[in-house]
Amino acid sequence: MNKTTSEPPARNSNLKLARRSNVIPLKKIETPKFPSQKSKVYSSVSDMVNEMRPTAPVHCLRPAVITAMSKWFVSNFPGDVMFAVKTNPDPKVLRIVARAGISRFDVASLAEVKVVANTIPGAKMYFMHPVKNREAIFAAYYNYGVRDFSLDSHEELQKILEVTNHADDLNLYVRLSMASDQAAYSMEGKFGVKLEQASSLIVAARKASKKLGLCFHVGSQCMNPDAYGAAVQTVVDLLKQNDVRLDVLDIGGGFPSIYPGMTPPPLMDYMESIKASIASQPMLSECEVLCEPGRALVAEGGSVVVRVELRKGNMLYINDGTYGSLFDAGVPNFTYPVKAIRPAGEVAANTQEFGFFGPTCDSMDVMKGPFHLPADIKEGDWIEIGQLGAYGATMRTNFNGFYSDITVEVGDKPLLSIFSVN
Ligand SMILES: *Cc1c(COP(=O)(O)O)cnc(C)c1O
Repeated sequence: MNKTTSEPPARNSNLKLARRSNVIPLKKIETPKFPSQKSKVYSSVSDMVNEMRPTAPVHCLRPAVITAMSKWFVSNFPGDVMFAVKTNPDPKVLRIVARAGISRFDVASLAEVKVVANTIPGAKMYFMHPVKNREAIFAAYYNYGVRDFSLDSHEELQKILEVTNHADDLNLYVRLSMASDQAAYSMEGKFGVKLEQASSLIVAARKASKKLGLCFHVGSQCMNPDAYGAAVQTVVDLLKQNDVRLDVLDIGGGFPSIYPGMTPPPLMDYMESIKASIASQPMLSECEVLCEPGRALVAEGGSVVVRVELRKGNMLYINDGTYGSLFDAGVPNFTYPVKAIRPAGEVAANTQEFGFFGPTCDSMDVMKGPFHLPADIKEGDWIEIGQLGAYGATMRTNFNGFYSDITVEVGDKPLLSIFSVN
């Protein structure tokens, strides 16, 4: 990473002064704390529980699984793959995806810029949050060499141009609002310029950028491969309407992982839909193509091991919850694969449905599931909860004093794999 000096390469000193005066000094921004201790390696989650008998939640990483997924995307996506850092910014995870061949990172904050720059030398970062603060743009551009920025408004375009002193080496990506109705998690509404209003922004961004990109997000955990093809068609229609040349088409994230009761079509169908839609459009033949998967790359490669502190009927009080790594098991009501672990003996063969209460005193800290566990599960048993490599540990808070940053690596198979069913 060309993390040079804090002094920007000014074109002339007057401009430099003008620019500096509307930017707050960077010293106020603290270096983020992303956990990065050395982690122990165990052959399996059961071995870890046997040896550690952990009294706090343990975050388990399966490097081999993340490696395989990353390589799959690199080989099968018809373009270049970025990793959406927000899904799991653990430096260990960044190193695993980088070693598997992913050298591009979708970042959304200065803290993410810093953790990528400090972890992966030479990484190319794309600052894809359409609403950034000026100090973050300044530091990303001048200190970390970021040239690629997304935006969805004229105001943000102006902001980027002012802070970078109308630099002539910006690659700007206009974020379009796309239908999210095929996804478990909608991305509509908060970000993306409405298609009816996109034209003037695209034209303005074309003028201001070295490379012009268009990007979108079809929604997270998108269950329909054709959502991408439809979005590409929308992009092409817009380009034709405005007679604008496009340099980069970024089709975003949204690729699914597998959850109980939510088995997506084969990932290859997504690749085929994207390839076919791009190939059928001559005006995209010269375009660079990018994607920003998060969930699909890392969900399978992580889990959390919790301990049962109390059982009341069909509800288990466990030591992690919605203020920890199980946010999505709360109101979004994702269900996860689970497995009971009892080092001291056998668990019952018959299962029943359970719900979980998290450790905090908040009544919102509840996870309905249902989670299928042995009928005799009880206080002191451990439970592995799978598919939490994305939007898991990264969501945890310190609320009520419950926080664990114990991370281990394990070598066994995940509880559920998208490749085992498709
Ligand atoms: C969250 C996010 C992603 C990753 O989405 P997934 O659904 O996890 O693949 C990619 N790009 C942007 C801009 C995002 O906000």
